[in-house]
Amino acid sequence: MKFSNMSVLQPVKKSLSTLGQKYFSSSSCLGADQHFRLVVVGGGSGGCATAAKFSRKLGTGKVAVIDPATMHYYQPMWTLVGGGLKTLEQSGKSMESVLPSSATWIKEKVTGFQPEENYVTTESGDKISYDFLVVAAGLQLR
Ligand SMILES: Cc1cc2nc3c(=O)[nH]c(=O)nc-3n(C[C@H](O)[C@H](O)[C@H](O)COP(=O)(O)OP(=O)(O)OC[C@H]3O[C@@H](n4cnc5c(N)ncnc54)[C@H](O)[C@@H]3O)c2cc1C
Repeated sequence: MKFSNMSVLQPVKKSLSTLGQKYFSSSSCLGADQHFRLVVVGGGSGGCATAAKFSRKLGTGKVAVIDPATMHYYQPMWTLVGGGLKTLEQSGKSMESVLPSSATWIKEKVTGFQPEENYVTTESGDKISYDFLVVAAGLQLR
């Protein structure tokens, strides 16, 4: 399936494709300030696909996905939920099962962006720094 809003990621994908194999240290201890080569805000369709692609390229522990949601929903199925052919539960999978295992899932809400200093802050006050950032926080549906 091709998502039309993935086109906004093209410039980022191009920049990321130029990344070399330089490695950065990152703490394995969640709850502390951490650094990643790539931080993806949001683990929905866009963020999940981006994290999968770039964690394959960059290796284990180089990509972080920050998302507080425990469930990942396949939203196109919601038309069938509205039509009574599927249930909402059928459109969801656990976030853990869809995110790439080589990426680090930080189960937090991002509350602040500091693009000049290459870091985001989370609701609990942690500071997550990055070399590259993809924001895929979706829309607020009503
Ligand atoms: C009813 C319906 C039918 C659709 N049908 C189609 C279709 O047929 N074909 C098609 O191509 N597209 C379809 N779409 C559109 C497609 O589902 C969306 O474009 C796609 O899901 C958007 O993906 P996303 O990653 O941008 O956002 P989402 O999948 O919404 O993910 C956003 C994620 O960001 C997280 N987040 C939000 N705020 C924060 C924050 N502050 N910090 C950290 N994380 C945060 C959320 O928890 C969520 O997990 C449909 C959508 C709907 C609603």
